[in-house]
Amino acid sequence: MQLEKGKPETMKPETIAIHTPGIGRDGAVAPSIQLSTTWQHGPAYENLHGFQYVRDTNPNVADLEARLAAMEGGAVAAAFASGMAAGAALLAALPEGCRVIFHHDLYHDFRNLAAATFPVRNIQAVFVDMTDIDALEAALSGNTALVWFETPSNPKLDIIDIAAVCRLAHDGGARVVVDGTFATPVLQRPLALGADYVIHSLTKYMGGHSDIQGGAVIAREDDAAARALFATRKVTGGVLSPFNAWLVSRGLQTLHCRMEAHCRNAAAVAGFLAGHDRVEIVHYPFLPGRAGEDIARSQMKAGGGMVSVEIAGGRDGALAMASRVRLILNATSLGGVESLIEHRASVEGPKPRSPQGLLRLSVGLENADDLIGDLDQALNF
Ligand SMILES: *Cc1c(COP(=O)(O)O)cnc(C)c1O
Repeated sequence: MQLEKGKPETMKPETIAIHTPGIGRDGAVAPSIQLSTTWQHGPAYENLHGFQYVRDTNPNVADLEARLAAMEGGAVAAAFASGMAAGAALLAALPEGCRVIFHHDLYHDFRNLAAATFPVRNIQAVFVDMTDIDALEAALSGNTALVWFETPSNPKLDIIDIAAVCRLAHDGGARVVVDGTFATPVLQRPLALGADYVIHSLTKYMGGHSDIQGGAVIAREDDAAARALFATRKVTGGVLSPFNAWLVSRGLQTLHCRMEAHCRNAAAVAGFLAGHDRVEIVHYPFLPGRAGEDIARSQMKAGGGMVSVEIAGGRDGALAMASRVRLILNATSLGGVESLIEHRASVEGPKPRSPQGLLRLSVGLENADDLIGDLDQALNF
């Protein structure tokens, strides 16, 4: 059966992830990798084959973008060489003199990017706690162009009410960007709740195997602003490579299965940690009684694969635990098959924002009993 391109709304999400080829495959079941950097064109640069130069776009990137747009329910997706490049392309389009409101628990390199690039363009970065919707309302002003947050946030797993923020921001004339890296479209669909853009680090769950870097913006409308992303990508050179696009497309086909197992393991790990007397705070979206639990349960299908934990004894306690894990690896990044642990304050440079006692866990696909056993012995410092 030839699946009709452009009609993904008739399929369920798991099926969309597997059966949304953006390009023809000539009968091959698995897509091929097209590594050519250039295509033959007519004598006056007529586009004869749909593709001309790899930095503009290429077949594997187009294939991935069709899948991403369908999975998020967006009109169009643009894939980039990293999550940072994707976010930077959105920020590059901002007019001089505007404001951007960020949730204060923000991926640290977006904070660094704003600090490095906003002042020369006279753009003001405002950081508010968006778990407090009144605080956001007070911060919104006429020249706010974007409201930007992660939910769950990195690393504190704060939960932001997507629909409520979108209503407020849109009333104030601002657009809304949700960084959905932790949730993935399997657990949460921000565009359906009113967001204008979803961004992802494809490096994390979407790729899923700790072996590619990539990023994407998915836009609700295919308008001039969305088209500008492709123009920015072309001139800044931040397009995703064909091989990485192929690997992410492959990763997306198993994303639903992987997320189910990540969530099951993370819930078990969070439950274990919450009952341990060396643990002060567990940050996990579905943890019973936690702030934001109701919102998390209403906008997410499950709690996700990330758990942050604050260890008694602050920095010394956290580093003691991180130095004792045997199975779980000390490494940055997240969303791969193997479990990782990280002391975020050490990663964030000289002025860390994460609490010194905080360890972030990316709970992988190992057996949960093995992970809990490792954490149990590591907490025995
Ligand atoms: C990793 C990450 C990014 C940046 O993505 P890269 O692919 O590393 O550039 C952005 N947002 C969140 C929430 C992340 O975890």
